[in-house]
Amino acid sequence: MLIRLRTAIERGETSCSELVRQYLARIEETRHLNAYVEVYAEEALNRAAELDEKFKREPSAAGPLFGAVVSIKDVICHEGHEVTAGSRILQGFRSLYSATAVERLLKADAIIIGRVNCDEFAMGSTNESSFHGPARNGEDPSKVPGGSSGGSAVAVQTDTCLVSIGSDTGGSVRQPAAFCGVTGFKPTYGRISRYGLLAYASSFDQIGLIAREVSDIAAVLQVIAGPDDFDATALPEAPDIKLEPEQQAGRMRIACFDKALHHPGMNPDIRQLTLQFIEQLKGEGHVVENVEFDYLDYLIPTYYVLTTAEASSNLSRYDGIRFGYRAGDATNIRETYTKSRTAGFGTEVKRRILLGTFVLSAGYYDAYYAKAQQMRRLIRDRTRDILHQYDFILMPASPLPPWKIGEVVNDPVAMYLADIFTVQANLSGCPAIAFPIGRDGDGMPVGIQLMADLLQESKLLSFSQQFAGKC
Ligand code: GLN
Repeated sequence: MLIRLRTAIERGETSCSELVRQYLARIEETRHLNAYVEVYAEEALNRAAELDEKFKREPSAAGPLFGAVVSIKDVICHEGHEVTAGSRILQGFRSLYSATAVERLLKADAIIIGRVNCDEFAMGSTNESSFHGPARNGEDPSKVPGGSSGGSAVAVQTDTCLVSIGSDTGGSVRQPAAFCGVTGFKPTYGRISRYGLLAYASSFDQIGLIAREVSDIAAVLQVIAGPDDFDATALPEAPDIKLEPEQQAGRMRIACFDKALHHPGMNPDIRQLTLQFIEQLKGEGHVVENVEFDYLDYLIPTYYVLTTAEASSNLSRYDGIRFGYRAGDATNIRETYTKSRTAGFGTEVKRRILLGTFVLSAGYYDAYYAKAQQMRRLIRDRTRDILHQYDFILMPASPLPPWKIGEVVNDPVAMYLADIFTVQANLSGCPAIAFPIGRDGDGMPVGIQLMADLLQESKLLSFSQQFAGKC
């Protein structure tokens, strides 16, 4: 899409200003979906006018993302702009610096049109834990858009931006993309600097991208990925993201887990569409084989023990002193901490802080945290082992279609279990993509997920582009 937009701008058929005006009008039309928590209308228009001016003066000076209008999830710092992680505890907090991803976007001439809704501290699968209220699925506003990057998925679904920058700790760009019928991509852990991304679980967190077209994901990824002195976990490899059409013709070897597809918790429509997709792949000459993966039932417990442990540590900094919200009625420092955190955090975040503190506490550390670390190693090794024999692992993005707002939110375990297919990529650090393959009996989008070995983004994106955006 970006390439088409740039051509249209070059021919004088549109301009950055015109694009921003169109997106702003769409944002107004879709306000009821609560995708945006803040719209930078004036700022985006001014920047678009500047970029148009620059382009007129010197067309060759246009950056690689000239013409790209993006939204950013409310967990990514943008200097001088509010960032709340969907939480009351950060209400009113303004970023003192920009995330590396944001700096690189701006340097490449992208325009940031607004900040989009998400679950509180990116913890959730529905966007319902946001302090700003739930975002709604544009396909059916009574249903959730998925989460935690629900606002990002709806923003792309409703054509209010070209690409949305989200974050993915256990599926947060892939699952909402699947729920909203768009494409969500999580790169290899460390591909994109986490500097300026508010931490949930640092050894899992990765900035991810949602768009309609794979080519737009590739263009943005190429710009924002790469080493960064401000993040020691950012990989040293410079990104070389190439979409190669010849890859499309290549025969791929794809692994799938029959046990997962025939799991009793699997929605029958999703199973059916997945099986059809597998048949389609076979018909095109690809090899799709069932492989044994003994750790399916361990994915969710391992993920939730480790991420809550990391979250309990990461969120200890929100004490009512240094950032955002502070309880007004405290008389001493201890009370300030307690009252600010009690009123500032929502139920799900508190649940995870308690769980995380528990699994790290003396007497339980070995039984839970240390065990989960060992399990993570086994999961990662087996996953990579499979990915040395196969090009991709194929799974549904979610075992369930989007549910009604309010339907599952009071059953956290049911919600956690629905993350079964997405967390493996974060536990192993591997890149993964979700794209739509059809609709269920209620007309809601259904997504498939492909996972590749570390640093295999180009292969994964090249292969996916023939399917993504076509449904
Ligand atoms: N749904 C998962 C969770 O609640 C994933 C969230 C995420 O990727 N940020 O932890």
